[in-house]
Amino acid sequence: MTPTLLSCSEGVFKCPEDQLPLEYAKIYPDPELEAQVLSLAIRCIHSEEGCRWSGLIKHLQAHLGTCGFNVIPCPNRCSAKLSRRDLPEHVQHGCPKRRVKCEFCASDFTGEAFEGHQGTCPQESVYCENKCGARMMRRLLSQHALTECPKRTQPCTYCAKEFVFDTIQNHQYQCPRYPVPCPNQCGTPSIAREDVPTHLKESCSTAMLLCPFKEAGCKHRCPKLAMGRHLEDSTKVHLGMVCALVSRQRQEILELRRDVEELSVSSDGTLIWKISDYTRKLQEAKARSNYEFFSPPFYTHKYGYKLQVSAFLNGNGSGESSHLSVYIRVLPGEYDNLLEWPFSYRVTFSLLDQSDPSLSKPQHITETFHPDPNWKNFQKPGASRSSLDESTLGFGYPKFISHEDIKKRNYVRDNAIFIKASVEIPQKILA
Ligand SMILES: [Zn+2]
Ligand SMILES: [Zn+2]
Ligand SMILES: [Zn+2]
Ligand SMILES: [Zn+2]
Ligand SMILES: [Zn+2]
Ligand SMILES: [Zn+2]
Ligand SMILES: [Zn+2]
Repeated sequence: MTPTLLSCSEGVFKCPEDQLPLEYAKIYPDPELEAQVLSLAIRCIHSEEGCRWSGLIKHLQAHLGTCGFNVIPCPNRCSAKLSRRDLPEHVQHGCPKRRVKCEFCASDFTGEAFEGHQGTCPQESVYCENKCGARMMRRLLSQHALTECPKRTQPCTYCAKEFVFDTIQNHQYQCPRYPVPCPNQCGTPSIAREDVPTHLKESCSTAMLLCPFKEAGCKHRCPKLAMGRHLEDSTKVHLGMVCALVSRQRQEILELRRDVEELSVSSDGTLIWKISDYTRKLQEAKARSNYEFFSPPFYTHKYGYKLQVSAFLNGNGSGESSHLSVYIRVLPGEYDNLLEWPFSYRVTFSLLDQSDPSLSKPQHITETFHPDPNWKNFQKPGASRSSLDESTLGFGYPKFISHEDIKKRNYVRDNAIFIKASVEIPQKILA
């Protein structure tokens, strides 16, 4: 037994074998036995982990000094404990306290600090991230990306859209906001490309304009700048054109008005003509002799004769001052050239009794006649004939109804009379 194998308690040792107390004084070294023990052969304490070493006990300590499986502290004092064989790897790559020299900037680092330095070393040579192909020290990269890299993006100065730098040149050949001079050389130095058409049309002093009197017929065309001069020089000509235009338009209006009137003329051969305000009109007729009222014109049938009824409320001819006289006349119509002449169809005049038919049977005043074929007004109207021409005197009844009789019944009701005229057209003509 060597004293080193004994445990101590209050100066008294216990034997590890049998636990009996041993007195220190009785313990003494036994070199002989020690030599025997130390000469025993054993396997390395790391044989289970794989160490193949075996030898004398006295050589174990020396072996452990080199045993690859023996656990030793990291020489860098990093707190790691590793087997000797794992140490080189640790010291070289894993140890946070190892010393590393950066291959790019040659600075010294602990392992820990180097982790942070790796990939950021300003001296390391790297490729541009825009893949432009350039390679340079990292510290030059940001400047490159900002001002030199052909693949950097940059906004177009004119339209502000982002472009890869090396395509901007091309873009500017099409950029809609790129300033170009007026293609007509009016002197405007920079017009955004997309605004050129508007400039040429609206504000370019060289734009060709049509004279503002074009509607009146002026065909003059000149640059905007010269238009003022043209307007000044052509006042009389323009005025003449405008006058002509006005008279053309007046003619057109007359024609339109006639068309509208034609469209509103009835064409079923019957006219019911209301003369309202009868008392006042009778007074008027009394004050002025031969005062004639005219009905709206009407057609005997579609594409037929155009007729008009007239009335002298105070009479004319043999009925003057005592009767209502009623006449019919033929007016120049649209279809006269298609019709047979003289006009020869039966005409009936009525003064309508406005009595309520449910109270008593109305007693209309009615006269019918066959037109006299020799009567001038029933001949085909000539081009020169107008409706108010004396020679076109109508045909009718100077004594249609006396002023006495017209007061009877309800010929005048609500201060109005109704005169009806109808023309009998044979069926074969209507067909
Ligand atoms: Zn070993
Ligand atoms: Zn270490
Ligand atoms: Zn470095
Ligand atoms: Zn680049
Ligand atoms: Zn642009
Ligand atoms: Zn211009
Ligand atoms: Zn003009």
